Amino acid sequence: MLEGKNIHKSFGKLKVLKGIDITVNSGEVVVLIGVSGSGKSTLLRCLNFLEILDEGDITIDGKKVDLKKDDLSSVRAKVGMVFQHFNLFPHKTVLENVMEAPVIVKKVNKKAAQEAALQILEKVGLSDKRDVYPNKLSGGQKQRVAIARALAMEPKALLFDEPTSALDPELVGEVLQVMKDLANDGMTMVVVTHEMKFAKEVADRIIMLDEGLIIEDAAPDAFFNHSKNARTRQFLEMVN
Ligand code: ADP
Ligand code: MG
Repeated sequence: MLEGKNIHKSFGKLKVLKGIDITVNSGEVVVLIGVSGSGKSTLLRCLNFLEILDEGDITIDGKKVDLKKDDLSSVRAKVGMVFQHFNLFPHKTVLENVMEAPVIVKKVNKKAAQEAALQILEKVGLSDKRDVYPNKLSGGQKQRVAIARALAMEPKALLFDEPTSALDPELVGEVLQVMKDLANDGMTMVVVTHEMKFAKEVADRIIMLDEGLIIEDAAPDAFFNHSKNARTRQFLEMVN
């Protein structure tokens, strides 16, 4: 569903990604971990073209992206992204936030966009907040709106960059639950998170990034219980 081949990305002299190969199959949940600065956010941003690669290719749903021919906003629409900070439109209601991109980017008519948005809000448990502005929501609710907004574009895959890191501990669970529900519905997902319990329970594979390279790609049991990689074991000791 989503494939990156030989991804290289530098910022000035700083080589951040040094040849990443990553394949995410349809319906798979991949959890991406690694120490701060290892390139996790940069990799996600490359996968949906918020950053332009220096080298390498990305294939989405069987089609290699060619920026000379393909329209950037329609490529981005295929791969949704949820950020640590929710980036909602403050002057739009919850419903308007969810409808915005389908109407503006995809030119969906308002009535259809509203119907779809209401269904998605129900899915994330926020039907009763449809007419509320973001500043009246808790962090957990805001993040669920951000997820709803990404879903409204009917993406082929969803990328999550530390979606619960900015939340008070008591609000983390409701967001992880929505993500679990999505995974169970068969959504293809790449999730950067420090929530190791979520990784153990939900991930099909765990990928460990270290200094811009993938140093391990394994099923949760192999990763958490049988890793032979010294950097992985060091990381696990740190987070446990
Ligand atoms: P992670 O998400 O794993 O913490 P990042 O991908 O955010 O790591 O960052 C990897 C490295 O790239 C860091 O050293 C960071 O400072 C640097 N970096 C990220 N984005 C930029 C940017 N836009 N300009 C310059 N350096 C950046
Ligand atoms: Mg990051």
